[in-house]
Formats: sequence, structure tokens, C-alpha cells
Amino acid sequence: MAIERTLSIIKPDATRRNITGKISAAFEAAGLRIVAQKRLRLSLERAQAFYAVHEERPFYADLCAFMSSGPVVAQVLEGEGAVARNREVMGATNPADAAPGTIRAEHAESIEANSVHGSDAPETAATEIAFFFEDDEIVG
Ligand code: GDP
Repeated sequence: MAIERTLSIIKPDATRRNITGKISAAFEAAGLRIVAQKRLRLSLERAQAFYAVHEERPFYADLCAFMSSGPVVAQVLEGEGAVARNREVMGATNPADAAPGTIRAEHAESIEANSVHGSDAPETAATEIAFFFEDDEIVG
């Protein structure tokens, strides 16, 4: 399988509970390498831009308010089939449906405050990585 890169965001519910290390350890244990990382706070406008694809969804306003409510940690993860591998490790969107042992099953508070974001396809990953990182900030 090809080496890929994907964008991960550790969400405000997880930074608030000081579990960014636990989440990063789960990625590393799954064979994903953190090749870029920054902690930042998204403005409401930046959160709205990041989630523009969900603009028509009923939870869009709440989601953008949540994502700008505290610090996040944006990461680029690299590894074999990184996009799919990361989504396996994250688990289903709704923690009630997430497989045991996944990050969302272990840590998510709700379907919204579900601790992590991960790109859903290689094309999306490229766009999402560029949203947060310059090329020279990614060191594999
Ligand atoms: P993901 O790819 O698993 O993150 O899921 P989606 O792309 O479908 O949704 C993006 C994010 O919106 C999710 O990670 C949740 O934080 C949030 N979200 C999704 N569905 C719901 C919902 O039904 N209600 C609320 N409040 N938030 C949701």
C-alpha cells in the first residue's frame, strides 16, 4: 500500500481534558508518524471555512462554535494507507457506534465533541493539510 499523508485535528474537548498525548500515542501505536503538528485556536470564521462542506447540515453552526471554543492540535499523519488507517483508529463519528478500543469509543464525549477529526479521502487530505501547514513545516 502507498505511503500517504492525512490531516488529523485533536478537537477542543480533548485539549480541555489534557489527553492530546494519549491520542497521539494511539496514532503512533497504529503505525502513523506525526510529521507536522501545531496547537492553535481556530477563529469562528476559520472553523466555518474548514467545515464549509457541511454548510447545509443542521449541526453546522454548533459544530463551528464547538471547534472554535478552545485550542486544537492540527497534525499531519504519515504512513501506509494513512487516510483509512487513521479513520480506523478514530472509530465511527458517533461514539455510541465506535468499535471498542478506537479513540472515539475511548474518549469522545458526544457525536459532536468526538475528540478527533481525520480527512476522509486522499484528495480531501491534501486540501486540509494545506489549510493548516506550509510545505516546509512538514518534515517526514
Ligand atoms: P467525521 O468524518 O467522522 O468527522 O464525520 P462528518 O464529516 O460526518 O462530520 C463532521 C463532524 O461534525 C463530526 O466529526 C462531528 O464533530 C460533527 N457531527 C457529525 N454529525 C453530527 C450530528 O448529527 N450532530 C452534531 N451536533 N454534530 C455532528
